[in-house]
Amino acid sequence: MKVIRNKILPFGKKFLAINLFGIVFAKGDCDDYVLNHECIHTAQMREWIYLPFYILYLLEWVLNYIKYRDHLKAYHAISFEIEAYCHQNDLKYLKERKRFANYRKRNDYGRN
Ligand SMILES: [Zn+2]
Repeated sequence: MKVIRNKILPFGKKFLAINLFGIVFAKGDCDDYVLNHECIHTAQMREWIYLPFYILYLLEWVLNYIKYRDHLKAYHAISFEIEAYCHQNDLKYLKERKRFANYRKRNDYGRN
């Protein structure tokens, strides 16, 4: 995975890295868990053939925002993020990940 360290992307101060079409833009150094999080997103993008991933991601964020009225809660409730955050500390996860794992039942990830 290509990582480009820079001072602009991702915008804002709350995020360390953003994955755009499999290329990670990071502010500063990323540990193995952040990189694993981004690798999980790359796997998600590939199975959704990239553009549908971004459409679904944005759609989920909008629906979550309507529900929660909080942009961070909306972000953390996106199914792609739930999967990535739940498994980012398991560096072997991608070897056993099932396709479209982000749409597993949320209870499988210990969330309601
Ligand atoms: Zn993420």
